[in-house]
Amino acid sequence: MQKILIANRGEIALRILRACRELDIRSVAVHSAADRELKHVRLADESVCIGPNNVHESYLNIPAIVAAAEVTDATAIHPGYGFLSENADFAERVEQSGFTFIGPRPESIRTMGDKVSAIHAMREAGVPCVPGSDGPVPDDPDESLRIASEIGYPVMVKAASGGGGRGMRVVHSEAALLNAISLTCSEAESAFGDSTVYMEKYLEQPRHIEVQVLADSYGNAIHLGERDCSMQRRHQKVVEEAPAPGITESQRRYIGERCVEACRQMGYRGAGTFEFLYENGEFYFIEMNTRIQVEHPVTEMITGCDLIAEQIGVAAGEPLRWRQEDIEIRGHAVECRINAEDPKTLMPCPGTIDHFHAPGGPGVRVDSHVYTGYAVPPYFDSMIGKLITHGPSRDSALARMRTALSEIVVSGIGTNVALQQEIIGDAAFRAGGTDIHYLEKKLALD
Ligand code: ADP
Repeated sequence: MQKILIANRGEIALRILRACRELDIRSVAVHSAADRELKHVRLADESVCIGPNNVHESYLNIPAIVAAAEVTDATAIHPGYGFLSENADFAERVEQSGFTFIGPRPESIRTMGDKVSAIHAMREAGVPCVPGSDGPVPDDPDESLRIASEIGYPVMVKAASGGGGRGMRVVHSEAALLNAISLTCSEAESAFGDSTVYMEKYLEQPRHIEVQVLADSYGNAIHLGERDCSMQRRHQKVVEEAPAPGITESQRRYIGERCVEACRQMGYRGAGTFEFLYENGEFYFIEMNTRIQVEHPVTEMITGCDLIAEQIGVAAGEPLRWRQEDIEIRGHAVECRINAEDPKTLMPCPGTIDHFHAPGGPGVRVDSHVYTGYAVPPYFDSMIGKLITHGPSRDSALARMRTALSEIVVSGIGTNVALQQEIIGDAAFRAGGTDIHYLEKKLALD
C-alpha cells in the first residue's frame, strides 16, 4: 500500500492520517471548500479540494473523489465512517477504477445495508435475532395482523433500508398496526427510496451491546470483545465503554464466536461491528456496520490492537496479525463524544474555538481535529472530538474521565462537556448497565 486517499473529514480523517504516517504510507486529503483549515489537510502529503461546502458535492461526490485518486496516483481509498463508507456502489466504483477499497467487498456492504437481508444472513449463521416477521411485511392486512400478534405487542415497524435512527415506529396495539405500517412505508419510500418494511418485537428496556470483528481475505476472523453504547440521545451514542459491564467471559465468547462464524459464512473482509440489543441476559442482533466506528478507540485501548492499521493490512492482502488467542482484554476504557452543541438545548453550535486545551496524563487519549482558532463549520456533524480514558478497572477509567473532563477547555462555542460530566458522575451509570432509554428519561426530568 503506497498512498492512501482519505475520503472523510474531521477526527476520523486525522486518525487515518496518523495510521498512514506510522505505517510509512503516503496520504492524500480530500476536502470541501469549508475544510481547508482541517488539521489532517495541513498534515497530509497532498490535498485536493473536491467541491463546495455542500456534502453532496464534496464528501458524497463519487466522481470527484475517484478523480482525486487518479490525479494524485493514490493506490487505495479509506472511507472512514459516515459519508460513503457503507455505499456499495462507491466501493464497487473504487475497485473498478483500479484502487483498493479499504473495507469489505461490495456484496457484503450490500447484504448488510438491507436490514431484511442482513437479518436473514444472521439467522442462517446462527446469530440470535429479535423475534420478528423474518422478511418484509406482506401487502396483506390480515397476514400483517397475524404476524404481529404472533410476535406479540409492542412491535416495531422498521424500514429495511433505514439508517441513522430514522424509519422506525413502535406499535402498542392491534388497532394501530395497519396505519403504522402504511405511514412507515411511505416515509421509507421518500427517505430511502425503498418502501420495504419489516416487524420486530419492541424490546422495552434493552442495552445496546456491539461486537467488534476483524477478518482477512484468507478465511481468518476474530472478535475483539464488546462495547456498551447504551447511553444514547435520539438514537445517537453519547458515551461508550468496553468491556460492557456485567458481561461474563462465557457470554463474550458465545456471542463473539457467533459473529466470527457469520463473518466466515459471508466471506467478510475487514473491520465490522455486529450491533445487538441485550435484555434479560439475551442478545438480539439488530444490524451490522460494515466499517470502522466512531467508538473503535475503546476497543483499541483494552486490546492494544490498532484497528485502522489492521484494516489497511487486510486491504493490502495481508493476513490478520492477530489470532483469537492473542486478544486479551486489559482493564476498561470509556469514551465521551465531545460535541459542539448548546449546553442547554443540545442543538448544534458551530463557531470559532478561541481556546482549546486537551487534557492528558496516564490513560488519556484525545482524538480530535480541533485547535485554538479553528472554526467549526455548520455543514457537518457536531462532533468535534472524542475523549477516551483507560484504566486497570472501570472505576479507574471513570476517575480518569472525570479528571480529563475537568481539564478540557473548549471556549468560544457551546459544548456538551457539562452533560458528559453529569453522565460520568451519575449514580446509575456508575453502577453500570443502564438501558438505551436512560439518558433521555434523565434529560426529560432536568
Ligand atoms: P439505525 O440503522 O437507524 O441505527 P437500528 O436498527 O440500529 O437503526 O436501531 C437504532 C436504535 O433503535 C437502537 O439502538 C435502539 O435504540 C432502537 N431499536 C431498534 N430496534 C429496536 C427494537 N426491536 N426494540 C427496541 N428498540 C429498538
